[in-house]
Amino acid sequence: MNSLEDIVSLCKRRGYIFPGSDVYGGMAGTWDFGPLGVALKKKIMDKWWKFFVEDREDIYGVDAAILMNPKTWEASGHTATFSDPLVECKSCHGRFRADKLADGITESVTTDAFKALNVKCPTCGKSDWGEIRQFNMMFSTHVGAVLPDDEAGDEGARERAKKSIAYLRPETAQGIFTNYKNVVDTIYPDMPFGIAQQGKAFRNEISPRDFILRDRECSQMEIEYFVHPGTWEENFEKILKLQHEFLEGEMGLDSSKIHEYEVPAEDRAHYSKRTVDIEFDYPNGKEELMGVAYRTDFDLMNIAKASGKNMEYRDKNTGETYVPHVIEPSIGVERLILAVLSCAYAEDEVGGSKRVVLRLPEDLAPYRFCVSPLLKNKPELVEKAHEVYAALRAKYGNVTWDDSGNIGKRYRKQDEIGTPKCVVIDFDTLEDGTVTVRDRDTAEQVRVQPEEL
Ligand SMILES: [Zn+2]
Repeated sequence: MNSLEDIVSLCKRRGYIFPGSDVYGGMAGTWDFGPLGVALKKKIMDKWWKFFVEDREDIYGVDAAILMNPKTWEASGHTATFSDPLVECKSCHGRFRADKLADGITESVTTDAFKALNVKCPTCGKSDWGEIRQFNMMFSTHVGAVLPDDEAGDEGARERAKKSIAYLRPETAQGIFTNYKNVVDTIYPDMPFGIAQQGKAFRNEISPRDFILRDRECSQMEIEYFVHPGTWEENFEKILKLQHEFLEGEMGLDSSKIHEYEVPAEDRAHYSKRTVDIEFDYPNGKEELMGVAYRTDFDLMNIAKASGKNMEYRDKNTGETYVPHVIEPSIGVERLILAVLSCAYAEDEVGGSKRVVLRLPEDLAPYRFCVSPLLKNKPELVEKAHEVYAALRAKYGNVTWDDSGNIGKRYRKQDEIGTPKCVVIDFDTLEDGTVTVRDRDTAEQVRVQPEEL
């Protein structure tokens, strides 16, 4: 098993992922995608969209605003309950998530139960803890012309400041629920049907860690799948099975590293009657990759109450009227990227020397081919290489050019960034038109006509 440090180092070295605001010393819990990282991220998100939206007749897409009416988060329960247990060390004043300080502590741990465990502070080593308090993870901001002194001003100013508070969405799901009625009234979908969304979500994690696994700003891909209440169980199984098909079939994840975890009632989110987490064996251990949750009619009923709008669905054939129940598969893009990278990362030996290789599935690799002339100071090779490069780019788009260093160094670099094939134009090319194609995984070389690629 490779280490997380190896992957972090490769990501930075080769332009996949940089620490956020790197030039200013970084910003905790944020990461920036470089040229190769954004290519991988886009391919993953596009494949998800194709698999779950474009290739299906029962799932529709939306793209809602990140800033939403604060009533959204009152109705959804996030204002009251979207929190983690925060505990402060009285000795060094470090603040931590209580349930992450030792194995076996749940999010609902009480102060007494926590203190009885005698957990040591990770910073100072003492065991002198304050009360456990619930810390709300939503990022808040003010919308409109609110001045910093308004909050300390007269009652009217304070009230206006309070009313201007909005949140960066903590999940994309509510952007779907709030558009349920719009979709039903414009698309007239048959039941069951889903609404999908991809986009940013924000969580003020108490202690962001493990690279992109627990970050404060992430991209989510979520579907709310609306079903007749009497059919939720079969639809839950159907949606769960689809996730495995996507993760193993489309993303190429190693199935032996994927595990289902039936989340016990006391650990489920406040809205869920059944949740199965799909966990993945990351380099630092088993962690949640995604979840499938049965959210009942919790969200639509809350929206109906808070908005006064009718959320009922009327069956076109039977005339039956009901508020649908919901199955929600939710996946974090960064968690998926890390799973893909940790399956792909390998160290092996080629021709007696060690190398790092990223065995990405061909359709996820940032570049499909790398084209290069054997020698960059031979104009006839360079000219022919440019011809092949232009033809492959026209056909595939994601093709890169490399004429730096010697050929061995170029192969090493392309192995590290995961390019499946290197195409080299040499003196034989000038004789018979064939090019050398070198395979990333086997390091074997064959000669073919460029048109065969
Ligand atoms: Zn401490």
